[in-house]
Amino acid sequence: MNLEQLQEAFPHPVGPLRILVVDDQPVNIRALYEVFRGRFEVLMATSGEQAISLCREQRPDIILLDVVMPGLSGHEVCRRLKASPGTRDIPVIFVTSQNEEAEEALGFEIGAVDFITKPINPVIVLARVRTHLALKLQSDLLRSFAMIDGLTKVANRRKFDETLALSWRACQREGRPLSLVLLDLDYFKQYNDRYGHQKGDHCLMAVAGALGHGLRRPHDLLARYGGEEFVCILPGTDSQGAIQCAEVMREAVKALQIEHQDSAAGPFVSISLGIATQIPGADTSPEALLAQADRQLYQAKRKGRNRACFIDLAAGRDAGK
Ligand SMILES: [Mg+2]
Repeated sequence: MNLEQLQEAFPHPVGPLRILVVDDQPVNIRALYEVFRGRFEVLMATSGEQAISLCREQRPDIILLDVVMPGLSGHEVCRRLKASPGTRDIPVIFVTSQNEEAEEALGFEIGAVDFITKPINPVIVLARVRTHLALKLQSDLLRSFAMIDGLTKVANRRKFDETLALSWRACQREGRPLSLVLLDLDYFKQYNDRYGHQKGDHCLMAVAGALGHGLRRPHDLLARYGGEEFVCILPGTDSQGAIQCAEVMREAVKALQIEHQDSAAGPFVSISLGIATQIPGADTSPEALLAQADRQLYQAKRKGRNRACFIDLAAGRDAGK
């Protein structure tokens, strides 16, 4: 697959590919800019320090890094990028005028994927950058497939488990609430029995799409928990925010108007939701919070479905103080 086909293959839209060009000499940056202009988005830095902060904030897809610079050298910049989990997967190509073997060997040792020599040859530079961008997209794609539910294209259970552990620790550190919303489709077994499994799959896909409307913040996650069950992680969201989000999702599913003759909550497909909110602490666990959400989901079912029930353990704790 070429670059463009790879970009198309992603389950989510991939924006324009971004190249970071780092060189202390503006004239060298300009030469590279001319090669990429109109093909990629080009970010520029004239020092190692600037390059590192740009990488953290903007996550470019590839870096062309000058070796000899005042302040942080290219080698040092590369070492630091490779030492940090957020930037270690960005491929680094060194751009150097010192055409020496020892220099190249050291560059590869510290994690560079390739070398380009100055003065640059535009055709060669472009070909090499395209090759390494394609490799980078391939590994991004593999990583994302391993974390995505094949049918509904939302996050899978594995991604959910990883994200819950991370969100729990982050909220514990910051003393902020974490909300979980566990939900499932009402009378889904009866749906499959009447309409068949193929329609059942289409129904799950449509519902997953609608559920996405409830999530607003970049750190919110929607995952397929199993069968007809989905779960949302809402870090930094209190119970009021989580209830709002649950209502948006419930309405969005209702608005799909998928016919369901055998639902007592019908005549359309609906969902029931259980919400649990807590400020993570040492005496609690993500598993316990999930169990609380599950208990609320059970309550919603018992009270007639197509509704949300919640428990706010954060407020309960505050009230006890
Ligand atoms: Mg230089």
